[in-house]
Amino acid sequence: MDKKVRVRYAPSPTGYLHIGGARSALFNYLFAKKYDGDFVFRIEDTDIERNIPGAEESQLHDLIWLGIIPDESTEKPNPKYAPYRQTEKLDLYKMYAQKLVEMGYAYECYCSEEELEEMKEEQLSRGIKSFKYNRHCLNLTEEEKQKYIAEGRKPTIRLKMEDNVTFKFHDLVRGDVSFNSSDIGDFVIMKSNGIPTYNFAVVVDDHLMEITHVLRGEEHLSNTPKQLQIYKYFNWEAPQFGHMTIIVNPNGKKLSKRDHDILQFMSQYRDLGYLPEAIFNFLVLLGWTSEDNREIFTKEEAIKAFDPSRLSASPSMFDNKRLLWINSTYIKNLSNEKYFEFILPFIKKVEFCRDFDENTLKNISLIFKNEIQVGQDIVTMLNDIVVKKDTLGEEETSILNSESAKIVIPQFKAKLLNTTEINKDSVKAIFKSIQSEKGIKGKDLYMPIRIKLTGQMHGIEMFNIIDILGKDEVLSRL
Ligand code: GLU
Repeated sequence: MDKKVRVRYAPSPTGYLHIGGARSALFNYLFAKKYDGDFVFRIEDTDIERNIPGAEESQLHDLIWLGIIPDESTEKPNPKYAPYRQTEKLDLYKMYAQKLVEMGYAYECYCSEEELEEMKEEQLSRGIKSFKYNRHCLNLTEEEKQKYIAEGRKPTIRLKMEDNVTFKFHDLVRGDVSFNSSDIGDFVIMKSNGIPTYNFAVVVDDHLMEITHVLRGEEHLSNTPKQLQIYKYFNWEAPQFGHMTIIVNPNGKKLSKRDHDILQFMSQYRDLGYLPEAIFNFLVLLGWTSEDNREIFTKEEAIKAFDPSRLSASPSMFDNKRLLWINSTYIKNLSNEKYFEFILPFIKKVEFCRDFDENTLKNISLIFKNEIQVGQDIVTMLNDIVVKKDTLGEEETSILNSESAKIVIPQFKAKLLNTTEINKDSVKAIFKSIQSEKGIKGKDLYMPIRIKLTGQMHGIEMFNIIDILGKDEVLSRL
């Protein structure tokens, strides 16, 4: 590569940062960093009615949170390439569209929505399913145009596709791809309100921003020949394209916003206590494999290992279990200090812990460091322990009514009352002495106490439960 690599992530601000968008951004980022290039964040906001407030910020800030840090963006523009929002350079698109018209590669189209609809119907009735503009306005005379204008019609500008030309390119993911221009109708590049369409604006932007490689979702594959036609007319060098495969759910279906057991937006992951490094790592594996099938990568390792030729050409399965495993691995590997910083907002959500001093909170947090998969788990696990259960299950009730329970519970209570230093050893010693004095052991010995304390038969180590509840609370529950 002789030119400096420049890639981009170019979301439309029509929604918050989504898992699929984050993946596109990530692979562009890896590509840029692998080849010492620039990763650009810019906004494609020409679909004005669909833009939503806060989407641009979420797209950018969530990326930064993930560690996918743009070299240039709406907030960090390089004056050479600015502006980074399409709506801020409408005049530029207009000028380029005009050039195409002057060169005879584009033309004004005065057809109304209704007329286009009729055209579609008429084509459908002839069995033509993918609509192709019939070039009604291709050769309008000046007089005809004036007549339309007098009727109050405002023209769009359509690109005139060449007839029967093959657009061939080498896709970074799928290899050689080709399209015949005759399958593509003359498409609108400028709407009648003076706003460019995606396929036109993206070419102007990619060219002016000197983008060398475009890695994007496969839903854009069929747009590529349209874009190549524009490059050809301007005699501009096209970037190299790569179209990433779709993400599928475990049933093999395209990931959809209706997959309720798969979180869709980065902010949801953050709120639940996923670590950005873990999501970064997970996304690296969503459509790419390393040569040695490694699963855990730091960002630097991923950049070093990244090789675009190993981008997967088959759909990538979103495996929730893998994500949870990766997240818990990252949590375990945090230093205790970093872990505490991460977990504090979660542990503070547990009412029982709200007034505890920092040291107590630290101790309690550490109990769960190897137990949780996401930050929010500590809330669930702690509440399981500290929130008293009003009703017990059948099995729990029968254990509490057993003969051994009637002995173990008062014994344990009495012995605990006499213990000043409560720790793992002293609690163990209490159980041991009950065992030797009363001959009760195993489940019969431990379970009544566990159920008395938490109402449940499973959970973390008993000593830890006692530690969290504190002596007074334990005695009162017993
Ligand atoms: N704004 C487009 C999208 O969000 C970008 C497509 C492209 O990368 O060319 O899908």
